[in-house]
Amino acid sequence: MKLAHLSWRKAEPVLNNPDTVVVIPIGSTEQHGPVGPLGTDWLIPEWITNEMEKRTDILVTPVIPFGVATHHTSFPGTIDMGLETLIAVMRGVFTNLAKHGARRFVVVNGHGGNDPAIEKAGLEIARETGALVALLNWWSIAPQLNKAWTTGHGDAQEVAAMMHVHPELVDLADCPKTVVNELSEDFAFTHLSAIRYKGAVVKLVRDLKRGIPQGGFGGLASENATAQWGADMMTAIVDYFSAFVEDFRKVPLDRIEDR
Ligand SMILES: [Zn+2]
Repeated sequence: MKLAHLSWRKAEPVLNNPDTVVVIPIGSTEQHGPVGPLGTDWLIPEWITNEMEKRTDILVTPVIPFGVATHHTSFPGTIDMGLETLIAVMRGVFTNLAKHGARRFVVVNGHGGNDPAIEKAGLEIARETGALVALLNWWSIAPQLNKAWTTGHGDAQEVAAMMHVHPELVDLADCPKTVVNELSEDFAFTHLSAIRYKGAVVKLVRDLKRGIPQGGFGGLASENATAQWGADMMTAIVDYFSAFVEDFRKVPLDRIEDR
C-alpha cells in the first residue's frame, strides 16, 4: 500500500495494526558525478520501495527527495537541507505516524549523509514509543551481497543502478574521464572524502569540488557501469529488502528495552 493513495479512514486501521511495517524511502538531490542524475539518491529508493510494495504487505510513505548534502553544494543543482532540518523532518514523519499506532519503521535510504539525522530521530521515537526502526542503506548492503558490486559516490555502482531503474536518464557516451587533484604526494583519494595514508584510510572533511572536480569518485569510475550489473544488483536488493521486512514484522515489540 502507498500511504499517499489511502484516505485517512483507510489509513487508520493500517497504522493501528502492530504488524504494519512502514517503509520510508529517502535520498538527496545532489551532484552524482559526470553522468549521474541529481535525483540518483532518491530515484533508486523510490524504485526499490515500489518493487517491495508489489511483493510484500507494507505501507510506503512518499519519498523524501532532500537530505543532508552540505559537502556537495559547490555543484549546480544540489539542494541541501542541512542536518538540523533533516532531523526535524524525520522526527515529524516518525512522530506523526507513531501517534496513530505505527511501531515498525524501515527507512530505505540512498544517501550516506542522511544517516546521522535518521539515527537521531529514530532513536528518539524508539525510546518514546517502543518503536522498532531499521535503516537499510542499499549501496552499503549491495557489496555485502556480492563483492563485485563495489561502492562509491556517483560512480559505477550508482550509475549501474540508474541504468536499471531509469535507463533513459544515463548517457555513458557523454562521460568525461574522472579527474583527481590529490592533496599531496602522501595522500591519495580513495573516495570523495577519504584519503589513504600509509595503507590506512582517513576521512577528509572539506568541500569536494577542489579534489574531485567532476564529483563522482570511489570504487570504480562511472564508465565501468553496465545495465547487467544494475539489473543483477537491484534484483538482489529487492529480494533482500523484501525478506528483511517480512522477518522484521515478526519481531515481538515487547522485546524493546531501554525505553
Ligand atoms: Zn548517491
